[in-house]
Amino acid sequence: MVRVLRMMGKNAGNLPGLALWTLNKKCLKAFRPDCPIIAVTGTNGKTSVTNFLSYIFSKSGCKNIITNYEGNNLDTGICSLLLNYCTMTGKIHADYLVLEVDESHVPVIFSQLKLETLIVLNFFRDQLDRNGEVETLILKVKKFCETFDGNLILNGDDPNVARLGLANPGNKKVKYFSVERYKYATETLYEAGEGRFCPVCGHALEYDYYQYSHIGKFRCPKCGYGNYPVYARFTGIDPDKRTFTADGGKYTTVCSSIYYMYNLCAVYSAAKLYGIDKEIIRKAFRSFRVNNGRLESFRYKNSELILNLAKNPVGANMTVRIMNECPGKKELLFVLNDNTADGLDVSWIWDINFSIFNNVSKVVASGTRAYDIAVRIKCSGYDASKIKVRPDLDDAVKELFSGEGKKFAIANYTAVQPARAALNRFIGGVRDEK
Ligand SMILES: [Zn+2]
Repeated sequence: MVRVLRMMGKNAGNLPGLALWTLNKKCLKAFRPDCPIIAVTGTNGKTSVTNFLSYIFSKSGCKNIITNYEGNNLDTGICSLLLNYCTMTGKIHADYLVLEVDESHVPVIFSQLKLETLIVLNFFRDQLDRNGEVETLILKVKKFCETFDGNLILNGDDPNVARLGLANPGNKKVKYFSVERYKYATETLYEAGEGRFCPVCGHALEYDYYQYSHIGKFRCPKCGYGNYPVYARFTGIDPDKRTFTADGGKYTTVCSSIYYMYNLCAVYSAAKLYGIDKEIIRKAFRSFRVNNGRLESFRYKNSELILNLAKNPVGANMTVRIMNECPGKKELLFVLNDNTADGLDVSWIWDINFSIFNNVSKVVASGTRAYDIAVRIKCSGYDASKIKVRPDLDDAVKELFSGEGKKFAIANYTAVQPARAALNRFIGGVRDEK
């Protein structure tokens, strides 16, 4: 079967993988990779971390890295990817397989493929109609971790992720990463958060501070949950100079938002685990951009625009915060679609904290649900006369660039590539790549 699909597999997109998966849900067992498999999962940041890590491995002299760059991260997507690279007998030759994997697909995929390292970034509420409640999702991954004895790299500042480290007491390869309190951390939670109760004993968690959402320094006053030995910690984060320190070395980065720092810390932890040269990591941190609608920068004449994908309130809140932390007047484009892949329910926009808008002189609403986002922002108390509704993306981009301030754009899942295309059409090929 693999052989037949392998032959039709090239350039056939997701179809052979889908066919194979439909015929046999155990088909991944037929693939025999001869290299370590590293998987990245979590609600936000999977694509960025996977791309970043693949880039660092490639710079360290590995020529042959197989990865799902475009975030084709469900079982059928992984199946298609492997079909593209396997021999007629299912063998896969590479230096590393670096895979972005949807949280709910981790157990089924890696019950069939031998995973060496699992990186878990965070758990937030996301596309409820597909994944169900976030707790159900965490329990799925936890169940997998109960028998997993490979490297487990966990965000130690997310209580929902850190708890996975307790799932298999026999696993001595659990490693936590953490980011030291940064300038804009808060003492109280003011964004939608999930992790307010101790996953061990159920007591309310206490926080010293919140970095963003429920990510921060937490502990349980009853059972002591929250005290881990940290494998990699970023300290001395300077958002203005875009610098930080890790293991005594100083690093510069292209973006200093706290959300980006956590992604980078996950990348750093994995690179450290695999013994990547610090100079290679330093160079990559200083220059590499994912440029796929993830904190992507566009330039038109004298103005700069930052575009960020947001599939959930946490992603959108992060962009709102990055915007607020930027001095001067700002203008925001919000593109909201409700296609199948977005989840038809757009009620998550009501969990975005627009009331913290700081010096935002204009909002342009676009996408198939342009009016919903306009109403949502108006209801947060924002001056309705400063909201322009332009469902057509080209009109929206034109409207945005008619103003003077620094530009930001938020787009949800199916909106992000059309938004990039519209921006590139408007700019006419003049891009700020690096
Ligand atoms: Zn507890």
